[in-house]
Amino acid sequence: MQNQYSPSQPCRAEDVPQWDSETDVVVVGFGAAGSCAAIEALAAGAQVEIFEVAAAAGGSAALSGGEVYVGGGGGTSVQRAAGFEDATEDLYKYLMMAGGPGADEARTRLYAEQAEPHFRWLQEQGVPFKGPTCRASGSNR
Ligand SMILES: Cc1cc2nc3c(=O)[nH]c(=O)nc-3n(C[C@H](O)[C@H](O)[C@H](O)COP(=O)(O)OP(=O)(O)OC[C@H]3O[C@@H](n4cnc5c(N)ncnc54)[C@H](O)[C@@H]3O)c2cc1C
Repeated sequence: MQNQYSPSQPCRAEDVPQWDSETDVVVVGFGAAGSCAAIEALAAGAQVEIFEVAAAAGGSAALSGGEVYVGGGGGTSVQRAAGFEDATEDLYKYLMMAGGPGADEARTRLYAEQAEPHFRWLQEQGVPFKGPTCRASGSNR
């Protein structure tokens, strides 16, 4: 008989024939979002299990160009080192324009407000950033 369970087919909890383990937090998918969620859950004292369907962690994040669209809050350390200041409102406006007519205002606002602290959080986890690749016009640094 063909297995009716697959990673892409949701299954009701009451239909699960057997539970193999118990934990506080289950993270499904070990990509960018999953790894960040797992780190924070662990830091909050939870027991965490990560399930990854692929042979290795990383997902699209591991294939990506690694450009992180953050700023605001006066600017990230990378922006400031390149001679740029940035404002949360400017990041918000930029993201709303980039998102087009369907852009979600509330989510975009939240993203813009949290972007700079999230960038620092990534740095604190040891994510390496190359630093400034271009300098603001008129900057002599
Ligand atoms: C070539 C490329 C370049 C990109 N460049 C950029 C860039 O420069 N800047 C940028 O901001 N974004 C970029 N992106 C987009 C960015 O990579 C994604 O938006 C981001 O990685 C999504 O993160 P995620 O955690 O949601 O998904 P992922 O990082 O894809 O993680 C999802 C994980 O879940 C696993 N999974 C899926 N289903 C299951 C299941 N049922 N059970 C268990 N595991 C499962 C997957 O195998 C995967 O490992 C790029 C994407 C690509 C493909």
